[in-house]
Amino acid sequence: MSTIFSKIIAKEIPADIVYEDDLILAFRDIAPQAPTHILIIPKREIATANDVTAEDEAALGRLFAVAAKIAADEGIAESGYRLIVNCNEHGGQEVFHLHMHLLGGRSLGPMLARK
Ligand code: AMP
Repeated sequence: MSTIFSKIIAKEIPADIVYEDDLILAFRDIAPQAPTHILIIPKREIATANDVTAEDEAALGRLFAVAAKIAADEGIAESGYRLIVNCNEHGGQEVFHLHMHLLGGRSLGPMLARK
């Protein structure tokens, strides 16, 4: 099942793209939760973290390299940032095309709300 991210990859709908190569696309989140909030996605349609296979290793390894490059470009590498991949209902996943959130530009606090 394709998602809205496939339409962004195909340039059928607009996005504020900050990075693109043969395997990866990165664009600003439409509802940012921090001064820097960028989504980094493999171009191949992988629905969730559960659907990752060995053939995705190159793209998913590159996600981290691209995240580091974007963090440097955004000027937040030294102050720090958070990388998040949500999976399925309990993970809070809304778009079923695997993506990494890059969040930074302010102190993000603890990773999860304390219960
Ligand atoms: P997740 O909850 O991990 O699936 O995150 C999905 C993210 O996609 C949310 O942070 C949304 O704000 C973001 N999002 C949804 N549609 C778009 C869009 N058209 N352009 C940019 N970001 C989007």
